[in-house]
Amino acid sequence: MISRQSISADNSLTVFESMESEVRSYCRSFPVVFSKASECKLWDTEGKEYLDFFAGAGALNYGHNNVMQKEKLIRYILEDGISHSLDMATEAKRHFLERFQEVILKPRKLDYKIMFPGPTGTNAVEAALKIARKVTGRTNVVGFTNAFHGMTLGALAVTGNKFKRQGAGVPLHNATIMPYDGYMGPGVDSIAYFENYLSDSGSGVSLPAAVIVETLQGEGGLNTANGEWLQKLETLCRKYGILLIIDDIQMGCGRTGPFFSFEPFGISPDIVCLSKSIGGFGLPMALTLLDPKVDQWAPGEHNGTFRGNNLAFVCAAEALRYWEKENFAASVIEKGKQLENGLKGLISQFPELKGEWRGRGLIQGIMFPMEGMAGEICAAAFRRGLIMETSGTDSEVAKIMPPLIIDKYSLQRGLGILGDSMEEVAEYYRKERIKLI
Ligand SMILES: *Cc1c(COP(=O)(O)O)cnc(C)c1O
Repeated sequence: MISRQSISADNSLTVFESMESEVRSYCRSFPVVFSKASECKLWDTEGKEYLDFFAGAGALNYGHNNVMQKEKLIRYILEDGISHSLDMATEAKRHFLERFQEVILKPRKLDYKIMFPGPTGTNAVEAALKIARKVTGRTNVVGFTNAFHGMTLGALAVTGNKFKRQGAGVPLHNATIMPYDGYMGPGVDSIAYFENYLSDSGSGVSLPAAVIVETLQGEGGLNTANGEWLQKLETLCRKYGILLIIDDIQMGCGRTGPFFSFEPFGISPDIVCLSKSIGGFGLPMALTLLDPKVDQWAPGEHNGTFRGNNLAFVCAAEALRYWEKENFAASVIEKGKQLENGLKGLISQFPELKGEWRGRGLIQGIMFPMEGMAGEICAAAFRRGLIMETSGTDSEVAKIMPPLIIDKYSLQRGLGILGDSMEEVAEYYRKERIKLI
């Protein structure tokens, strides 16, 4: 293995190693102590600067300490604005609801009731699955291979990753996993395969309440569903009275360009889950958007103490300003093209690494078939001051997802660091005479 950088006193992880649970993970990939951050940069306790190609796994689409949101937030607190409110009506929540209607839903002709579940993504998913089961009176739900929907039991049951599923410690029932687009190889129509199970009375699969799907699998290796596949999935759902849930927790809020990742495909999900960047400032917040016909909750039937994170509502409302600018989605797509060109250039520069391009918008990556290589490249990048993580069940994809507000110069600089890191790893394999597959 390529050695980790030596760690000095200020960046010592001793306290974390002795006190914090073994469950900690990202501090192992990025073994320094961070102290400051701004826009697309972070600094550790020794003042070393890092460029962020990770963006809090998609929770920092508007960058670290977004200046506009920060000012609103500080003023709100100084004026003794409500901080915690369960689901009581507050001025900050009203302002967010009105702005979300005006800036996001209305221009897209979307009619959703807005539910505030607990403040995390997995809460939004649990709420979606629960209401789908209630509305249809069915127990089974369908998820897809390599999907990721969160860590609570309902969400885990529709998650593909074996390691994460095993962590449940109990059988994960009432869910069926179907092949995602492309899972069975090119040219195999996995929707036709899925329909076979629904239409055949001998399939052993009971009619599901809902299908939950990501348009692009952010954790599961950056597999993309194409528009036609998603449209066919929607048609299938309509035919069998199955509710269609889009988990837009990571791909929503502009990660692929448009606010909702499904917009370009012309589909109308019954339920949409949002979290990660919806709170704007990296503050915890989640939404489960419900078609009005699905909103059959009894008051309080699903609740949670932290549904009223008003500090997040203040930043979430402010973040919507980006979506009033007509060119925001276009700027993401344009920077996405720059990233795609850069990554494809690097792939052809190092053909021996056998990299394969993946992605859409500002979530892209390179799949490396050689076991462990993506992680080694990310570690090499980190030593050079670039933060990026792997994706996929076998951590086979080096994933790039900078804050959406990143400037083109920084994007290019990060690509340069990634290129140097790929060079280092290629050189290491050459020197050690490790046979590349
Ligand atoms: C992150 C994520 C979740 C879970 O969100 P948490 O806030 O970590 O509970 C669910 N679905 C997708 C697609 C995600 O990326």
